[in-house]
Amino acid sequence: MGGYKRILLAVDLTEESAPVAERAKVLAEVNGAELHIIHVIEPLSLAYGGDIPMDLSSVQEQIYEQAKSHLAEFATSLGVPAERQYLIFGRPEAEIHRIAEENNMDLIVVGSHGRHGLALLLGSTANGVLHGASCDVLAVRVGIESEES
Ligand code: AMP
Repeated sequence: MGGYKRILLAVDLTEESAPVAERAKVLAEVNGAELHIIHVIEPLSLAYGGDIPMDLSSVQEQIYEQAKSHLAEFATSLGVPAERQYLIFGRPEAEIHRIAEENNMDLIVVGSHGRHGLALLLGSTANGVLHGASCDVLAVRVGIESEES
């Protein structure tokens, strides 16, 4: 088994994305791998069970446009070109798996909060990505200082 060739970095675009991205970038460099980056937008209808009596399409469009520029800015700072940026509507775990499979990724990098108690029972995106992934998954610990203080 050789080194990684195609690494998919999943970002929620919060400030915690930076340390996770840093790890992915270094891994890509030492492996001579291509770095790809994905952000998934959860449709408002999914989040609210489709129960809001209102047309959300313009809100959705604004969210999309904002996420698009944020992702482009973030990816550019990492040196990831436009054709390796994926902005997708759906459920994060499912879309991360789909994009990873369709593009033959051999490593997925996510952030993980190392939750415990109820939050652990409820699960996390990192758990969801790990279960059912068809390639390796690296969970980068984030937010540890703030949890312990
Ligand atoms: P969470 O468990 O939701 O706090 O997210 C932990 C990690 O999952 C983040 O650091 C990202 O790597 C990934 N992630 C969460 N939400 C998204 C999203 N909407 N799009 C892409 N990756 C995500």
